[in-house]
Amino acid sequence: MTISPSLLEKLGPIVGDRGLLTGEDVAARSCDPFLHLPPGSPVIVRPASTEELSRVLALCHASGQRVVTHGGCTGVVGGAMAGPADIVISLERMNRVLEVDPIGMTMTVEAGVPVEVAQNAAAEHGLFYPIDLGSKGTATIGGTIATNAGGNRVIRWGMTRQNVSGLEAVLADGTVVSQLNRFLKNNTGYDLKQLFIGSEGTLGIVTKAVLKLVAAPTTQKVAFVSVPGFAAVLDLLVRARRMPQLSAFEAMWQDYYALVANHDPSRRPVSPDQPFYVLIEAMGYDEAEDDRVFTTFLEEAFEAGLIADAVSAQSAKQAADLWRVRESSEILVREMGPFVSFDISVDVRRADAFVEAVRAALKERFGAFRSVAFGHLGDSNLHIGVHIGADTREREHEIEACVYGTLRAFGGALTAEHGVGTAKRAFLPDFVTPGAFGTMRTIRQALDPVGLLNREVLFR
Ligand code: ZN
Repeated sequence: MTISPSLLEKLGPIVGDRGLLTGEDVAARSCDPFLHLPPGSPVIVRPASTEELSRVLALCHASGQRVVTHGGCTGVVGGAMAGPADIVISLERMNRVLEVDPIGMTMTVEAGVPVEVAQNAAAEHGLFYPIDLGSKGTATIGGTIATNAGGNRVIRWGMTRQNVSGLEAVLADGTVVSQLNRFLKNNTGYDLKQLFIGSEGTLGIVTKAVLKLVAAPTTQKVAFVSVPGFAAVLDLLVRARRMPQLSAFEAMWQDYYALVANHDPSRRPVSPDQPFYVLIEAMGYDEAEDDRVFTTFLEEAFEAGLIADAVSAQSAKQAADLWRVRESSEILVREMGPFVSFDISVDVRRADAFVEAVRAALKERFGAFRSVAFGHLGDSNLHIGVHIGADTREREHEIEACVYGTLRAFGGALTAEHGVGTAKRAFLPDFVTPGAFGTMRTIRQALDPVGLLNREVLFR
């Protein structure tokens, strides 16, 4: 199957010369943040408006043409991968911040706006868009909506789902579904945005969104601590949650921290001699009070024996340096690649037991292996990387089967924030009930009966 030349001829006049990329302009791009994986499709269509996208999809629908949607291509589960018979649709030319409403505390943006651009536009009005992730410079609002992105501050402000007030999307047949709701309260029929958020581009293509904003915090307290045991980590979490200012609780197992700290001396705030490390952040609005609360929290935790060693940031620069310890994916790629990455949720009380069980299962299955565990422990969300040798990529499915088998026994979730994409699709039926899976199929069939949108994503 190939793309019909007559279809391409009709698309050209809709999106114009700038809207159609072929050849080297396509091949030079990558669908993966760590590896150079070209999109696989011979053409990228770049509509500049909802109306153009609607016409493009209507044409594709009429000729049974499959499409794969691109945001910033920072996803790690292969959601942007396309084939030679697919057309890629990129929202990158729909990149305008349309309005910031400082009184209603919302902003309306086009889907191709990078997350960081939205954050900066909000900041100009003393406001804050709380979704924050390592790839914010490239990841787009549309992509983060399609994947219901989480990131570092979910413990305080929730996932993308909790931070979107309304949206506009285009269905597979070109129908524009516009529900750009700006109100906190609006019960006028189905709240369709929730259907599109986290649907990984299988139900429609998001074109615009109304985002919820909060007053920009004016204080930031960050501490990096080492912890002598997992029971102490949980106790620390309970105590940290009593601070209304708590905005992040990020845990690192020793395998992760030792790798980073030994590789880069500038990312070694404390000695790597304890089993656990936690980055704790609090953001508030009163410097003296926030400092008092945070300092008291650390002192009491220290007295209770929950903390072995601690470094508290004295400046914004030091705070950023402490965050760099947690966000060291480039070191993992360099020191541990190739690896298979996991993004799972598990009962936080059993998170360490789960990590131990995964290690035991990997050892039994593969003998020698390396793994690292870290993540948003306050959200019950762990990231795990596994390397079993030079053939790690070839045996990816075996490694996944091993980890997910353990995860099922612990009653965990297949993915916490990265999504299913194409990479984890084979395991989806193991983690949803037959009734839920059937309902997902029914919804997809209703909105995209021909199966044109991101066909290889989630399930077929
Ligand atoms: Zn994460």
